[in-house]
Amino acid sequence: MKNIVSQQRAFFYTHQTKSIDYRLKQLSKLEKLLKSNESLLNEAIYKDFKKSVFDTYATELALIYHDIKYAKKNIYKWSKVKRVGTNFLNFPAKSYIVPEPLGVCLVIGAWNYPYQLTLSPVIAAIAAGNTVVIKPSEIAPHTSSLMAKLINENFPPKYLKVIEGGVVETTLLLENKFDKIFFTGSPQVGKIIYQAAAKNLTPVTLELGGKSPAFITQECNLNMTVKRLVWAKFINAGQTCIAPDYVFVHKSIEKQFLELIKIEIEKEKFSIENGNYTQIINHKNLERLSNMIPSEKIYYGGGVNTLDRVIEPTVLKGVTIDDEVMMEEIFGPILPVLPYEDLEEAISYVNNNPKPLSCYLFSTKKSVKKNILQKISFGGGAINEAIMHIANPKLPFGGVGNSGIGSYHGEAGFKSFTHYKSILDKSNLIELSLKYYPHSERKLSWIRFFMKF
Ligand code: NAD
Repeated sequence: MKNIVSQQRAFFYTHQTKSIDYRLKQLSKLEKLLKSNESLLNEAIYKDFKKSVFDTYATELALIYHDIKYAKKNIYKWSKVKRVGTNFLNFPAKSYIVPEPLGVCLVIGAWNYPYQLTLSPVIAAIAAGNTVVIKPSEIAPHTSSLMAKLINENFPPKYLKVIEGGVVETTLLLENKFDKIFFTGSPQVGKIIYQAAAKNLTPVTLELGGKSPAFITQECNLNMTVKRLVWAKFINAGQTCIAPDYVFVHKSIEKQFLELIKIEIEKEKFSIENGNYTQIINHKNLERLSNMIPSEKIYYGGGVNTLDRVIEPTVLKGVTIDDEVMMEEIFGPILPVLPYEDLEEAISYVNNNPKPLSCYLFSTKKSVKKNILQKISFGGGAINEAIMHIANPKLPFGGVGNSGIGSYHGEAGFKSFTHYKSILDKSNLIELSLKYYPHSERKLSWIRFFMKF
């Protein structure tokens, strides 16, 4: 690992990765590589958790291709030296900001969307002109080994290198000095990464998780709400960092909401056989999730097929904030429904817990939208929709507090792998003597005067 990092550092200092032409070529090469190996990518992810070709394209590959296209389209704009004004005190001079790549980056991925969560930050790092060591999640072994095979056979290790492994390998990797660490995973491991990065003052982006709430108010369009919510919760069998973790629904519409949810779940025909559902990633998570389902609160579903690692879309009714299922991020197909009477109490509950990655509000009332946006701090989210904010590259994606540090996607991704170097470019034409010794009262009053501008 040490050898790879030093090879990458040496390559970075040849300055080849800094040319925009080089970056564009690498982005195109990666795109071509993925497109020509789509069947292998589909096969590997199916082996990991039976994700269908449709879902693999819609929730992974399409986003990756779009990221590449978007980066290629905007790379000149993002990499441009930006002129800014110069203050009077520094006259005559030009001032500008020079974007420069950070250097050797480490990207650590999560397993739930293994391609997208690993390769999207890599695309941003390439676009910004860096070299990258990539560590996919060992929890999805087939996708991890395929990414290693494709990238390591097609890119030189001095530029891109996939290193596979789990805790042991990642711990060893973190002993090296990187110029940037981009991590996607749990808040618990995020803290380990942050501590390791601190030893070298390495900047981090931490894309973490948490319990993302959804508020369903009396003023929502209930049919549309249920449709969008059910899809967002049960896609990837709930193994989505920004899935609505639980729902606060106004007591007056709870009954109707639950009836509609049942109809919608049945309509969407979630099943592995028809490709509309995915497995739980492993037996450890299956057990963790099964233990979260209190049989007396099951409103719908609740079935667990241990052999096939499948948990039915499950809706829990009459859940309170003290229930076990409210103690940790669910990250599976279980939807607790909590009725509320006073929206302010529900808001206080969210604010008394770690800041969520996402928050969703289903309401058509302007004052309610304003209230939630003003009172709750969260990474990002949607109104009358769930999850889909992730698909707009113009919206920086990331958490706040316990749900993460920094953001990416689109230009935010480019920025997260870039340092902005500020330059004052002074003219030699004239020189005021004010700053030079010996000082005098007169010079001081001139400086006071100039500082007014
Ligand atoms: P995880 O934290 O267990 O693992 C993430 C990565 O960290 C893996 O590559 C793993 O090998 C590595 N890792 C695990 N333990 C480590 C250790 N002790 N030292 C060093 N590295 C270690 O997370 P996960 O199970 O892969 O994913 C689930 C979590 O990630 C959830 O909390 C979810 O919300 C969050 N997540 C966040 C996003 C986001 O974009 N914000 C996306 C997906 C998942």
